Amino acid sequence: MAQKRDYYEVLGVDKNADDAAIKKAYRALAKKYHPDANPGNKEAEEKFKEAGEAYAVLSDPKKREAYDRYGHAAFDANSAAGQASGFGGFDFGGMDFSDIFSDLFGFGGGRSYGGFGGFGGGYGGGQRMPQKGATVRINMRITFEEAIFGCEKEIELAYKDECPECGGTGAKKGTSPVTCDRCKGRGKITRTTTSPFFGQVQNVTTCPDCGGTGKVIKEKCPECRGTGYIQTKKRFKINIPAGIDNGQAVRLSGAGEPGVNGGPRGDLMVEVTVSPHPIFKRQGTSIFSTVPVSFAKMVLGGPIRIKTVDGMVEYEVKPGTPTDTKVRLKGKGVPSVNARNVRGDHYVTLVVEVPTTLTREQKKALEKYAQSLGEDVNKA
Ligand SMILES: [Zn+2]
Ligand SMILES: [Zn+2]
Repeated sequence: MAQKRDYYEVLGVDKNADDAAIKKAYRALAKKYHPDANPGNKEAEEKFKEAGEAYAVLSDPKKREAYDRYGHAAFDANSAAGQASGFGGFDFGGMDFSDIFSDLFGFGGGRSYGGFGGFGGGYGGGQRMPQKGATVRINMRITFEEAIFGCEKEIELAYKDECPECGGTGAKKGTSPVTCDRCKGRGKITRTTTSPFFGQVQNVTTCPDCGGTGKVIKEKCPECRGTGYIQTKKRFKINIPAGIDNGQAVRLSGAGEPGVNGGPRGDLMVEVTVSPHPIFKRQGTSIFSTVPVSFAKMVLGGPIRIKTVDGMVEYEVKPGTPTDTKVRLKGKGVPSVNARNVRGDHYVTLVVEVPTTLTREQKKALEKYAQSLGEDVNKA
């Protein structure tokens, strides 16, 4: 790792600088060294990246704290400090500063610098850097029980893959893509425009002829029609962990879109929608249900059977149990998706069941019961 400058020094701020001062210092540097204001200036580009990295750390309270404590080692996955800080291997290339850029330069929509990674090969060469493929997101419906106990699902998905005929170049077999005439292979076109901040500036845009690749295909591969990719179907096994909740997702590394310029494939994110259960309600790791119990059993006490996700369990109702009594069935709830061998509880509300139809005999028995209490049910 090359010797890195101190982040406070990079931004030219004091160690005790507040957020506003840090932002102000970064804005000034970003404006000064922005690639649009310094086309082709490598040194400015380096300074711009350096300032962005310093800002990424110092503008985030947690990262700043880790940096104050461990220095640059806080972001080194191979150091003990990196492991301790929790930011080891933190990817500066993936930072998104579009909010700052938009507020700083007033760019129209759709302007993206792809973090710092895009500048790695010199400005304008960003498009040819290896890039991880896009994340593919799908939704899957599972049952209440499947969410609680976990399950394995197999799905068939449209899968974008490199064309085997042309090896992903998009050019007909035996030919290869040629350098784009319009941008001379740079992938970018530089235009001079007027900006309220810089006056005359060079504005760099993606070349429309080659889409930023710097290459054009004269004879397209018939298999993929020049795209370099083919759509196939592929089956995936997805392990849904026990305890997953509605809206949570499972990540399948490398099952997303293919990478660009030799980059790794993206990921597949499978978000689950859990179907509601007719009896059980769930909140985190707790399950709730209501169980009707006869008046006689609530008064006299006795065993009842309660449905849980593990099957029926027996519960002894105590004599004189009032309606709406809440009972906890320990460990009959949802397993924690994060912690092993941790399981929530099942809360049952016991409710007196009032019969709506009675035989003559039952009616008489009830009236007799009421009379024994000195009550006439026909009088208020
Ligand atoms: Zn092809
Ligand atoms: Zn071009």
